[in-house]
Order: sequence, then C-alpha cells, then structure tokens
Amino acid sequence: MSVSNIPEIFGCMVFNDSAMKERLPEETYKALRKTIDDGRSLDSALADVIATAMKDWAIEKGATHFTHWFQPMTGMTAEKHDSFISPTKDGGVIMEFSGKELIKGEPDASSFPSGGLRATFEARGYTAWDPTSYAFIKDDTLCIPTAFCSFGGEALDKKTPLLRSMEAINKQATRMLHLFGTDVKRVTPNLGAEQEYFLVDKSLYDQRRDLVFTGRTLFGARPPKGQELDDHYFGTIKDRVKLFMRDLDEELWRLGVVAKTEHNEAAPSQHELAPVFTTANIATDQNQLMMETMKKVAARHDLACLLHEKPFMGVSGSGKHNNWGLNTDTGVNLLKPGKSPKDNIQFLVFLTAVIKAVDDHQDLLRISVATAGNDHRLGAAEAPPAIVSIFLGDELYEILEAVENDALYNERDRVDFESGVNILPHFKKDTTDRNRTSPFAFTGNKFEFRMPGSADSVAEPNIAINTAVSDALCCMSDSIEAKMASGKDFENAVLEMLRETIKAHKRIIFNGNNYAQQWIDEAEKRGLLNLSSTPEAIKLLNSEKNVALFEKFGVFSNAEINSRLEIMYENYRKTMKIEGYTMLDMVKRDIMPCALEYTRILSETVMAKRAVIPECPCNAEIKMIKKLSEATDSMSECCDELLCELVETGKLESKAEKAMYYRKNVFPAMQKLRASADMIEPLLPSEVLTYPTYSKLLFSLN
Ligand code: ADP
Ligand code: MG
Repeated sequence: MSVSNIPEIFGCMVFNDSAMKERLPEETYKALRKTIDDGRSLDSALADVIATAMKDWAIEKGATHFTHWFQPMTGMTAEKHDSFISPTKDGGVIMEFSGKELIKGEPDASSFPSGGLRATFEARGYTAWDPTSYAFIKDDTLCIPTAFCSFGGEALDKKTPLLRSMEAINKQATRMLHLFGTDVKRVTPNLGAEQEYFLVDKSLYDQRRDLVFTGRTLFGARPPKGQELDDHYFGTIKDRVKLFMRDLDEELWRLGVVAKTEHNEAAPSQHELAPVFTTANIATDQNQLMMETMKKVAARHDLACLLHEKPFMGVSGSGKHNNWGLNTDTGVNLLKPGKSPKDNIQFLVFLTAVIKAVDDHQDLLRISVATAGNDHRLGAAEAPPAIVSIFLGDELYEILEAVENDALYNERDRVDFESGVNILPHFKKDTTDRNRTSPFAFTGNKFEFRMPGSADSVAEPNIAINTAVSDALCCMSDSIEAKMASGKDFENAVLEMLRETIKAHKRIIFNGNNYAQQWIDEAEKRGLLNLSSTPEAIKLLNSEKNVALFEKFGVFSNAEINSRLEIMYENYRKTMKIEGYTMLDMVKRDIMPCALEYTRILSETVMAKRAVIPECPCNAEIKMIKKLSEATDSMSECCDELLCELVETGKLESKAEKAMYYRKNVFPAMQKLRASADMIEPLLPSEVLTYPTYSKLLFSLN
C-alpha cells in the first residue's frame, strides 16, 4: 500500500457521515443527523430509506450478508449473519434489507450470560440499532452496531448501560453549564483507549496448552534475560512485527479507526497501539474491533496476539489506558483550563466534580476493572495498586488548596468575576509532569484511568466514570442552587460549593509514588479502599449506595445490577477453574513425564558408566537425580493439594463463597504448584522438554 492512498482507504468500509450524505436523500440525511446529534430515537419512516441506501452501499463493497453486531456480557462481540437474498416468484433472488431488519433483530438470547435475568423475564432478547455508532463492513458482512436487551427492556449487554450513562452525564453536565450561562445543547464523554498486547510466534503458541486454553502461561521459569535492560521500550520495531503493524493499521483505517501511535512496550514482545479519541460509545465499539482485528491479522502473520493482562510472570503485563474527557457540542473541552476567569472557574468545577466522583465511587472504579486476569497486574509494581487515587500535579493541587483556603479570592476579585480580569493564575498545560504510577491521572486536558486490563471491554470503566461524575455534578448543581435560593449570588455560591467539595474529597488526591509501601499505609490512614482481589471488590457492587446511584441516573435497575454481579462471580470462578485444571493437565502430560524421562536417562547413564568403570562416582548425575526426584515428589504433592481445593469448591453453595474460596485457597495452591514446576523446568534439557520456554516465547521474533 502506498502512503498517498491512506485518505482514500480511510473509513472506506464504514457507512459514516460522508457516505450517509452521499447516499441518502437530503431530507433523510438531515433527519438522521438530527437523531444522532440530539440522541433521539429513530423515526421508523426513515428506516426503510436508510436500510436500502446502506444495503446498496454494502453490496457495492462486496457484502453479501448483514448482521446485528453486539456486545453481550461475555466481554466479546457477537454476530449472527443473514444474507441479503430473498427469493422471487420466478425462482430467482433479489437483494433485500428492510428498515425493520436494520432497526431490530431477535437473536436467540438463551446462550448468552444473563445472570438470572432470563429466569425472571422473557427468555428472548432483541438487538436494536445504535445510530450513534456507524455501520461497517467486515468479512463481506454489513455489521450494524446494536444494543442487546431482554424483551422486558433489561440490558443484556455492555452498550446499553454505556449509552444510558452517556445520557446521564450529558444531562448533568449541561445542567451545570446552564447554571454558568454557557450555551450548549450536548455534552459527550470522549475516550481514547491505548491497547497493550504481546505477540508470540504462532507455532510456539500452539505448543502451550496454557496459552491456548487460558491466554496466559501458567508455568515458566524466568529466562536469563527479562526486561531489566529497558531495551525494548520504544526500541526499534522488528521487521516481522512491523509488517504485522502495517497490515493491522490498514485494516483498522478501512474500518475508520484512527490507529495512530505504535511502539514497543516495556516487556520483550510487548507492544501498544493507541487510536485517536472519539465518543465513548464509538471508541468502545472500535476497541472491540481493534482487539478482534489484532488477533485476525496476527494469525495471517503466523503470530498469536495475546491480550491477557499477565501472559508472562516476571515481566510487565498489559493494560488499557482509558483516556477520558468531556466535550460540548460547541467544541469546548471542559477539562481544559480556559483563558478567562469564568472559564477557569468552570474548569475547576468540572475538575472538582471528577475528584468528588472518584472519591465517592472508588469502589465502582475498582469493580469496573475487576477480573481474574487483572488481579495479577494491579499492585504488582507494574500497574497502579488496587487503591484508587487521583494525580493532579503540584500546580493544580496548589490552586485547589488556594480555593479551599479562600486565598485567591478577595472581595475585589469577586466583583471582577465577570469582567475578564485574571483572578486565577494562567494554567500551563502540563503534559510533561506525568506520574506513571497513578491509577487516575490528570494529563493536561483529560484524565487517564490506568487500571483497566488489556482484555477488558472499556464499556465497564466508562459506565462507572460517567455515572460517578453525573452524580458529583448533580450534587454540586443542587448545592449551588440551594445556596442561591438562600440569597447568595452565583459566584459566591460556586466558590463556597467548591471549597466544601475540595475539603471533603481532597484525600483522594495523591501526587507521589503509588507503587511505594508508604502509600499503601498512608491510603489506609486516609480511609481509602484497598480491594486487592476481584471477589473482594465485586461484592460491593450491589451495596445500597450503588443501587441507589445507578437507579437514580437510570443506568442500571436493581435486577440488572444483581445479574451483572452474578455474571462477574461466574466469570471469575470459571477462569480460575479452567486455569487450575489446565495446570494439572500440563503437569501430568508434560512436566512430570519430561522430568521422569530425564531422571531415567540420568539413571541409565549412571548404570552405563559404572558398567564401564565400576568405581565411577557419577556425582553430577546422582546430584541431578536426587534434585529431580525431590522436586517431582513435591510437585506431585502440590498437584494433589490443588485437586483437593478444586474439588472443595464444588461443595460451596453461593457464587460469592465459591469465588472467595478460589481466591483464598485455590489461587495459593496454583501458585505453589507453579513454583514447584518452575524449579524443575531449568533442570531439563531443551530436547526433553515438550513445550517452549519463556526464552523462546519472548525472544523469538526477529
Ligand atoms: P500517552 O502519552 O499516554 O500515549 P497521548 O496524549 O498520546 O498520551 O494520548 C493518549 C490517548 O488519549 C490517545 O488515544 C488520545 O487520542 C487520547 N486523548 C487525547 N485527548 C483526549 C480527550 N480530550 N479526551 C479523551 N481522550 C483524549
Ligand atoms: Mg497512556
């Protein structure tokens, strides 16, 4: 592909705004645009016209099928393909696609996780077009982004609550802006999701059942070299990887994903791809597409793309930095310090809203990234700890302190509030002072939430952030209105509200090193939550506070929350169970037979040598035999222990108990078994070992 042709291929497989403009009658285009911009539901009279135009466009691009593309609670995407063909009376076919087919689908919902919702409500589910995310063509199929709900209207997917949370924050942010007299119609949360991943040679990957079944290595001794030389981060990209990245870029560009920044990450064979930000909804869809495309393109290059949070012990795992911002329909970034004092106060209000949101709802942010895979990263000094805090940088922190102590504002300045005199120092847009250890960092004009795991859907963290910030903005608007009702002028009401909010929530701000033990101790003193594992975190999901919050902002009903909690417990349990049994399988079929085989070879060597030289001491062999013999005995015991613990989980009743048992008992048994097996691996010669070691997996791409 020549570079000059990028603008031509970019978005060529997307029924985007320009395709709509070109293909739709002007009136239809205008009406659809209005539907999208104002977040209204689509007039069904328009649907037939749009469907026909979409179909014609898709067929010209080679599509033969269409599908409603949705995001069930598996965290992956789902699609069921239907062809456009429809029989005619004369025995032929025509290509058809109706407005009804565009707007609504009825996939069989029964095989997707519903967390008990199906038992209580209708068994069937339906998918509904989300016109705010463009349709696209993938594998000769027109994919229509849809929400997936039960017939009772309960969300069975990740998109529905995300859209609801976007609506909630739109409402609360416009309400706040209207108090300021700022003329806006819509506020949209934006998202740029930086995706980390590993690439390994496909033929090596296929030889590891742990990678194939669980996405991560469950065994593996440390290679002589890891990431200690820091020679991979931003290093020269190897040819094979470069070819993969080119191919990936091209696929993504066709799909309208602005894949932009690529570099090597900290660990060997680890890389990152960051697209340019867009609305939280589109960015979430695109991140799913990106993960799927990475796997597909990798296979074409005889590579396997690992999206697991911790594929290899001893080197960094992978995350997905969630860059979150708020923009108005008038093009204002609400998290960007403004030029005039009024803008700056408005900026401080939104900044403080995020601070309050993160403090009030630390639990929800932590829960939104809680998975078995991510438990390996958080707090392992390679990713933020499980404690949620905010990094602001010293300059902003001082400004907030000044507001809190009323130091910047004397009477004269208050009078000047509207007149344009700078009462706040000019904010420098500071993007250099980065604190890479912070879970939630202000980076000049947006917040970067660094806790999400690489395999997660970004819908979850954004549902949490949007809802939490909606709540904070709502409380803050309420407070301003109450103060004004009791006679305060607007400026004083805002400043007083800010003072109170900063005072109440500044404990969540931490500009220091989040990896240090001192912070863990300090955070405890400050009363911050430290939810170190998934089962401990998710049990808070259906607390009274959280149910009230989600219901108030129309994001989740009580039944939906409980169904989600059930699905999270199940996901955790199943992941741990598969990992546990895969370990036992690998020990029995790989590690133990290899170790015994080598012991046999050594023993026979001793006997053979002694047949020649009866007094031969054979110290090296005997030492190895003893070592191996002890190690295999110990590994065998560890296997028994792990199996016992796995069986034990079957006796527990509740999903919460089971999940906790996996964490408290099964997980340590897995770690113990791994330690014993990892002692054996380096003792074995490569030709005896039946699977590739870390050295091969991590350093083979040239
Ligand atoms: P990093 O140094 O962490 O890679 P960048 O400044 O390159 O940071 O941005 C990372 C991501 O943040 C990109 O996806 C970018 O598009 C996104 N981003 C930038 N501005 C915003 C914003 N206002 N809202 C949301 N995301 C943003
Ligand atoms: Mg980043």
